[in-house]
Amino acid sequence: MPLNRLVVGFAGLLPILVASAGAQRPASVLPAVPAVHGNLTIQVAYPAAGSAIDAGDSTFLFGTVGDSAAKFTIAGQSVAVAPNGAWLAWIAIPRDSSFVLALVAKRGADSSTASLPLSRAGWVRESGAWVDPKSLAPNGEVWAPQGEPLALSVLAAPGSLVHLLLPNGAVLRFAADSTAAPVSEGLRNFDRDERNLVRTIHGDRFVATLGTALNPNGGLEPSSEGDRLSRPPMLVIALGRDTTRIPWPLTVSRSADAPVAVLLDDDPRRLGGTDRITIGRAYPTGTYTWFLPQGTRTRADMRIGDQVRLRLSRDAIAWVSSADVHRAPATDDPRPAIMGSPTLTAESGITRLRVPLTRPVPMSVDESERGLIITLYDAVSNANWTRYGADQRFVRLITWKQEAQDRITISVAFDRPLWGWRVRVEGTDLVYEFRAPPMIDPAHPLAGRRIVIDPGHPPGGACGPTGLCEPEANLAVGRAVRDRLIDRGATVIMTRDGPDEVELWPRVALADSVDAELLVSIHNNALPDGVNPFTNNGTSTFFNHPQSLPLARAVQDRLVANLGVRDLGVARGDLALVRPTWYPAILTEGLFMMLPDQESALRTPEGLQRYASGIVEGITTFLQRSARAEILPP
Ligand SMILES: [Zn+2]
Repeated sequence: MPLNRLVVGFAGLLPILVASAGAQRPASVLPAVPAVHGNLTIQVAYPAAGSAIDAGDSTFLFGTVGDSAAKFTIAGQSVAVAPNGAWLAWIAIPRDSSFVLALVAKRGADSSTASLPLSRAGWVRESGAWVDPKSLAPNGEVWAPQGEPLALSVLAAPGSLVHLLLPNGAVLRFAADSTAAPVSEGLRNFDRDERNLVRTIHGDRFVATLGTALNPNGGLEPSSEGDRLSRPPMLVIALGRDTTRIPWPLTVSRSADAPVAVLLDDDPRRLGGTDRITIGRAYPTGTYTWFLPQGTRTRADMRIGDQVRLRLSRDAIAWVSSADVHRAPATDDPRPAIMGSPTLTAESGITRLRVPLTRPVPMSVDESERGLIITLYDAVSNANWTRYGADQRFVRLITWKQEAQDRITISVAFDRPLWGWRVRVEGTDLVYEFRAPPMIDPAHPLAGRRIVIDPGHPPGGACGPTGLCEPEANLAVGRAVRDRLIDRGATVIMTRDGPDEVELWPRVALADSVDAELLVSIHNNALPDGVNPFTNNGTSTFFNHPQSLPLARAVQDRLVANLGVRDLGVARGDLALVRPTWYPAILTEGLFMMLPDQESALRTPEGLQRYASGIVEGITTFLQRSARAEILPP
């Protein structure tokens, strides 16, 4: 019958499937780990004794035992020891707020023992009516429009009664939050086991809304004269006969006024050393969504702690750091800004789009493969002409649309893939610059290219079981990449060529200052606590903007071929070194520092050569493809 035939057929196919899967995943090509014989000494490289780990049922540890012949156990569980004495363990741990792991190494009659005390991050040791003071949200200064509800939340003992005593004697009751606790970012980003992404309800989160019901009789609000509260509200947690009281450091001001006109500037004293961009988020702790250039004019209508809410247009808001927001010097004109006729000009390979405005309004740019869409908030169009310029062909078509009553979209289509773009405020206008692909000789694609190589870290960086850390490994790979690129005719600028710390922003500033044509940031990976390193390691390459994706794919393909470890694929990531828009920029995570064989490979010339060649071959392939990229028919 059909079912049996299917089963038989499937069983017959299985060896073939296995064989082909085996062909796609070759045995590791990394250099062999050298054998080490020496004193039996247990060293734990991670985690440090007494530290708090953020894990579920199991966690990883790594270090060395000093001898490849050692038999090694942690909490009674057997752990493999690499030829160089390094070990990586994935260990089941007790469901307790703190615990001690016993580590035992044996070699014949010789033995060594160690104990490792650990605790769990986010687990509160206390019993009874506990409350986590760090979880009070929001706290600090809040100002908000009259009638705007304010959500309050706190972590406290499950099953307790939670309420807030307001200075005027009113009581705000909290309810247990019935929504599931979010899965940690680390698990979301790294764990390929879907079962670990199931969320659970902890019952320790309590929520309440401070709304209009508490107005106008004071409550948490100051009096109508606008004075501050004389004392903070008091949070009370009751569980059985146990009661805990803590003050909630919060002041709330309500405003009936219209939004305040503000100017965005991350460097008001002109000290330099900033990126001249204000980051906007969809909610106060959200991801980066808007990149608003210095000089943008807009309005603010709410503040929670150090976050200010901008009203970009009637239906769009963004949260930004209060440090970047300044009261606009001139009195506010409540009408939208007026956009005049856009004009294109070209000069030394750069195409410039000037968007005339009566005020530099907030904007965003969304990219596609061969075009981009500019959104202007708080603006109305009075555009009539569009001048395409005499000498430019790169921009094929510009159209604009009054998308809503105070929002305009401008669509820009290019005749080749966009290499890069940037924007600045000039007077009250927005000026965009577009970069076409450079002239590339397909026979010598690296000749004349200006490439920035960024060896990741320090500060920071992951380390391996035997103590090799990213700053050293990444620099060794970076130097090997540089030498190969120079051999093939490229000009290479290194963001660092020594052990000294370089922060992220100066690395990007250097790439901008040398007018980079391409940037590769070199890293080696690590996992967050609680993710299985044996099933989740491999090679990955990150990019941010669509124009960088072809470079990311080309380099990822060559890295996977050269390193022979699992292919984790390319990924979009909002990382400082891949965020620049003026040139294709990628970040490679070639190997995982915590895996003994991968750490060991990074100590050898062959391992470094494999990593470096992968990057150079990938860049070469990308440039060859770019040289062949056709001009689209009109
Ligand atoms: Zn790194």
